[in-house]
Amino acid sequence: MKYFPNLLIGLSVVLGSCAAPALRMVDRPIVFDEERRRLSLDYMAQRHNIQQSEPFIRPRMIVLHWTAIPTLEGSFRAFERPTLAGARPDLMTAGPLNVSVPFLVDRDGTVYRLMPDTLFARHCIGLNHCAIGVENVGSGRMTRAQVRANAQLVRLLKERYAIDYLIGHYEYRDFIGHPLWKETDPNYLTVKTDPGRPFMRKVRKRVKDLGLKGSPKDE
Ligand SMILES: [Zn+2]
Repeated sequence: MKYFPNLLIGLSVVLGSCAAPALRMVDRPIVFDEERRRLSLDYMAQRHNIQQSEPFIRPRMIVLHWTAIPTLEGSFRAFERPTLAGARPDLMTAGPLNVSVPFLVDRDGTVYRLMPDTLFARHCIGLNHCAIGVENVGSGRMTRAQVRANAQLVRLLKERYAIDYLIGHYEYRDFIGHPLWKETDPNYLTVKTDPGRPFMRKVRKRVKDLGLKGSPKDE
């Protein structure tokens, strides 16, 4: 499978220091087959008005989420298949591509890499074409381990890509009208509260030195 050149390595450990436990990252690929590739290209064209031959993104932003599903297994299953399950009729009107993200963080802070981080993933209306998504297992109260892992992941991604923005999903509508916003239907909008303001505050505090921007409304 050409999109997963290094997923077979299995387990990788990155970013250690004396002060904080190392980030534990485990490859656990979702299905990214020809159907998902085609649906991703369709979504890019229809929703973002972007025509490409391969579904790659140019990361400028990281969007943090919670899954609202209490377990790792349940969360993984929600992203695994290429098409949306019947339980998401609200999203189905905008296309059958299932939601996903490259990174899923369990309650213990272990990061599961579901797909390469520059492949297109549907997780944030208007911004998928430039945003790397990070999902966290659970809802409401996130764990300290998740705060730490998200901050470490943000740091790692900022080293790798030209990331300017770090936002919580609940802030995405603040980008309507922003140069990065691309959505062909102005009425396709949802209301989000994830991953909660306290979580964003804690993660941002840990990566303050990176100088990442948040919502344009806070500028
Ligand atoms: Zn979300």
